[in-house]
Amino acid sequence: MQVSNGDDRLGQFIDGKAVAGEGSAIPVTNPATQEVLCQVPFATPAEIDQAVQGAVRAYESWRDVPTPERARLMLKYQEILKARQEDIARVLSRETGKTHEDAMGEVWRGIEVVEHACNIPNLVMGELVENVARRIDTYSIVQPLGVCAGITPFNFPAMIPLWMFPIAVACGNAFVLKPSEQDPMTPMFLMELLAEAGAPEGIVQVVHGGREQVDGLLAHPDIRAVSFVGSVPVAKHVYRTGTNALKRVQALAGAKNHLVVMPDANREQAISSLVGAACGAAGQRCMAISAAVLVGDAKEWEGDLAAAMAAVRPGVSDDPAAGYGPQISVAARERILGYIAAGKAEGARCVLDGSECQVDGYPDGNWVGPTLFADVTPEMSIYRDEIFGPVLVALAADTLDDAIDLINASPFGNGVSLFTSSGASARKFQHEIGVGQVGINVPIPVPLPFFSFTGWKDSFFGDLHAYGKQAVRFYTETKTVTARWFDEPSTPSPNMTIGLR
Ligand code: NAD
Repeated sequence: MQVSNGDDRLGQFIDGKAVAGEGSAIPVTNPATQEVLCQVPFATPAEIDQAVQGAVRAYESWRDVPTPERARLMLKYQEILKARQEDIARVLSRETGKTHEDAMGEVWRGIEVVEHACNIPNLVMGELVENVARRIDTYSIVQPLGVCAGITPFNFPAMIPLWMFPIAVACGNAFVLKPSEQDPMTPMFLMELLAEAGAPEGIVQVVHGGREQVDGLLAHPDIRAVSFVGSVPVAKHVYRTGTNALKRVQALAGAKNHLVVMPDANREQAISSLVGAACGAAGQRCMAISAAVLVGDAKEWEGDLAAAMAAVRPGVSDDPAAGYGPQISVAARERILGYIAAGKAEGARCVLDGSECQVDGYPDGNWVGPTLFADVTPEMSIYRDEIFGPVLVALAADTLDDAIDLINASPFGNGVSLFTSSGASARKFQHEIGVGQVGINVPIPVPLPFFSFTGWKDSFFGDLHAYGKQAVRFYTETKTVTARWFDEPSTPSPNMTIGLR
């Protein structure tokens, strides 16, 4: 990594090099200590244009690189990422506070997308129908779009950029990434490793910043498609602005994910899954479980749930006993504490309160302890809003139908889970639930990269989802060719009116 102390500027990554950056900078901090790790300069309009123009130039030759050669770049990249997984995880832990195990897991989930991109020759295969008319064939070919952009959130600074640029680049595009300004060191490290794998200069550029820089990319005429991941309000803004500018946009957004516990579920498994899915990564996952729906007699399991949550404690990344790390920022912690206070004021029963949490030796960390609310009703803000912290709200339902109705009334549709031992309940649930990613006795059903990440409702704006086959369609155009070849000059012309003969 190019930065070694808090005064160092990270730089934009343009045409294969870190460019110091003219814009004003903000500090990147370690959320467990508030140590300043580096300065991240926000890209100026001129730097954004420089990055996009460099990507346009890189695209002109990259689009003609044979598909197996593009696959070979990804093969090399996944090999390097695997060899450097520990190093990436350490950088990631410093700027996000994630435990080492969690950081290693995140990097691995990103590597799996690069593995998927190695399969690009199969993924961009077209179709052919022979003899659509006499001696005429029609076939489709899949071609890259041009320059695509990605805007990513703070909570997965390795995995989510890796959801995007490996597939876009393997398809033959160039890519401009605007990572979260809160943890930009990890994506910059990924770029260094991409260059080491032999990627041509300019094929992936990085510009830093916030709203202004995002709007600069959305307005840039040379960007054809934008992938966004972040909160609902920003996703709506990006989707509207991008589609108004006639770009292709996929915008993955926030969530409130439920886990339904049926009384016939395996009690131990259901409780430990709930705790891990609510507290893991400090609750800062778009697929975290933040609402437990206890059906029928499963309401009696609240005490076990509270005890299991109380046994989890946050800590620093190299503490093997830590269940999770700090919240990303002082502001994020304050927002979560505000919700805990609101829950109490709204009349929910706070069974476990993490608002006073401290970690020995780290008095300045953004700590929030596991928090459990019971007697929660759908009108309460702690149920309605995405809190994005280790706060679980428990609601009661009399029947599975009531649980399904409750969840289907939520505006979010990212993930949901059912714990049961009944195949009939599971079948009914998966069929009737209005959520895009369903787990049956699986708490966080994030699909592997040969499927797509398929959030619904306010958790996704667009048509084609992230990674998997849908991402290949998102980053490409389909061209159909109808062709006729004459074997002798005198061959009579066939009737071209296909279908009317
Ligand atoms: P965020 O929306 O604040 O930021 C996301 C990106 O948008 C960042 O790069 C940021 O710089 C930029 N941005 C921020 N404000 C902007 C504005 N007003 N205009 C334009 N761009 C802006 O999100 P976050 O706090 O970084 O990440 C957490 C959110 O992301 C949560 O809501 C979480 O659920 C969501 N998320 C969703 C998924 C998913 O797959 N659906 C995955 C991860 C995170």
